[in-house]
Amino acid sequence: MVHTGIGYDVHQLVAGRKLILGGVEIPHLKGLDGHSDADVLMHAVCDAILGALGEEDIGHFFPNTDPRWRGAPSKVFLEEAARQIKVHEGRLVNVDATIIAQQPKVYPHLAKMKANLAAALGIPARRVGIKATTNEGMGFVGREEGIAAMAVAAVDLPEV
Ligand code: MG
Repeated sequence: MVHTGIGYDVHQLVAGRKLILGGVEIPHLKGLDGHSDADVLMHAVCDAILGALGEEDIGHFFPNTDPRWRGAPSKVFLEEAARQIKVHEGRLVNVDATIIAQQPKVYPHLAKMKANLAAALGIPARRVGIKATTNEGMGFVGREEGIAAMAVAAVDLPEV
């Protein structure tokens, strides 16, 4: 039976941080603030997968009070999500995500992001969708105060 999950994440854009999205370091004046590398895309995908499994969210598995995850590359979170799928004897069908960022342009980096997500999740890049949109200048995203991402995942699980 295919189970779907949804994930959402947002991080603040601040000076003095690298901007990491989908495991790609993108040259920009500001980067995302957070305990780990603050890869908002990978975090949203992680929560989508955990949601499909009926598990608790990424913060449960990787508390931001744990010094082990300080500055951690977020691919380790996706690798854990992939491991959780195996624990549930499931198979990841696909993930799809949208990055909401006013700046910078992320389109040129989408192919590399897909490859990074696919590698961390152990699926072909064809089964990873990533799109990007601006927020048309509105709200905190439009003011470039932060970047958000939303994601869905489909996981084929044994019937219970
Ligand atoms: Mg996060």
